Amino acid sequence: MTVHTTPDIAAMVRHAVHDSATVRAVGSGTWLSGGPVAADATARVVHPPGGVIAYTPGDLVITVHAGTTMQELADITGTEGQMLALAPYGSPQSTIGAVVATASAAPLAYDDLTVRDLVLGLTVVTGTGDVVRPGGTVVKNVAGFDLVRLHTGAFGTLGILTAVSLRLHATPHMDHVVTGTLDDAPDQWVPRLIANRAPLPMLVRLAPDGPPQLFARCTGNTARASALRGLVQAAGARDAFTLGPSDTSASGTHETPAAMLRHVAPDALVLRARTQPAHGAALIAQARHHFPEATVLFHPLRGTVRISVPAPRSHGDLGADADARVAAFVAGATTAAGAAVSVVVEQGAAPCRDAHPLDAAIKRSLDPHGVLPRRRAVPPDSFRP
Ligand SMILES: Cc1cc2nc3c(=O)[nH]c(=O)nc-3n(C[C@H](O)[C@H](O)[C@H](O)COP(=O)(O)OP(=O)(O)OC[C@H]3O[C@@H](n4cnc5c(N)ncnc54)[C@H](O)[C@@H]3O)c2cc1C
Repeated sequence: MTVHTTPDIAAMVRHAVHDSATVRAVGSGTWLSGGPVAADATARVVHPPGGVIAYTPGDLVITVHAGTTMQELADITGTEGQMLALAPYGSPQSTIGAVVATASAAPLAYDDLTVRDLVLGLTVVTGTGDVVRPGGTVVKNVAGFDLVRLHTGAFGTLGILTAVSLRLHATPHMDHVVTGTLDDAPDQWVPRLIANRAPLPMLVRLAPDGPPQLFARCTGNTARASALRGLVQAAGARDAFTLGPSDTSASGTHETPAAMLRHVAPDALVLRARTQPAHGAALIAQARHHFPEATVLFHPLRGTVRISVPAPRSHGDLGADADARVAAFVAGATTAAGAAVSVVVEQGAAPCRDAHPLDAAIKRSLDPHGVLPRRRAVPPDSFRP
């Protein structure tokens, strides 16, 4: 595999503009068919290199080339007792450029941090071949419009990330995922989880069969981790038990609960719906009703549900009527919750509508020639009441 430096990538983009061609960044290439990017077999591929550009452990900041893998980051920062506090989907071979481009924080991230909380600065090649450096290498660095957040989660549609500056955390002394089953109804356990909420990442997983399962990540020193575990048990997890260290430092296997929560088939339709946490039970009931074949993850502190609907070839009839089913879910959830419900499509082709005018204008300004990937699915306005 040939890797390309930032000047190489800028030159390739300019050539693509001249040739009316397209360019796509590829990291380890493990998730190219996933996400909302339109397939383009003719795209010219660029591979940003890996490796550390600067690491200042005393400032808990590292700057790396975008092709650096999560495993490499864990190894480098681990020697200083530090970590990048992300638990992205996929394998430890995922590259940081792709993790930022897809904003893959994933469930049970340390302290519920998202990618946007941890990216301090970027080097980006835009669709005109210009090199821009939004953000910086210190924690407080944003003045004016925050372009770092714009590129984070843009799936490379607004620019190719070639370097990333990241905020690090000290590795906690203890790091465990606690799990147990909830054997009463959601309208009973949702208020209980909210009442017993603790400052820890917590999720309830509702599979099509089997009881709801509560997962909570307890981290810190021994006293804090034990106290958090007590709170999880108070929240009603029957037979709560500690399964062992989580794999969230990107070193894990597929047996751990964190890895189990992180697996999503690239061809699944993934929706994220949000309402006030107190209305979570209504949201869950509507998700179960409209997508009985789906696995639902409920986040009690945020009031979000993440609905992963398997691809139609293995289950059900999602394909053609996905748009209608999503619309029916939104209508049902809004009525049942008695409050605003916002829904976004995190992954999958449906529903497919024209881009929001603001999104379209940003795309035009950073990629006026359409050289970079474009999104194939945009949540329509009507799904954001
Ligand atoms: C909702 C969701 C679910 C996911 N589920 C899974 C899963 O089940 N399994 C899994 O393996 N991964 C999954 N991912 C993706 C995963 O978290 C990582 O993003 C991916 O594993 C990174 O691996 P990679 O280096 O092989 O990326 P690649 O496959 O190389 O790239 C992934 C995407 O990022 C773009 N990209 C890569 N590098 C750059 C760059 N430098 N600049 C701009 N764009 C870039 C690519 O064009 C592509 O669209 C999921 C992501 C999301 C958002």
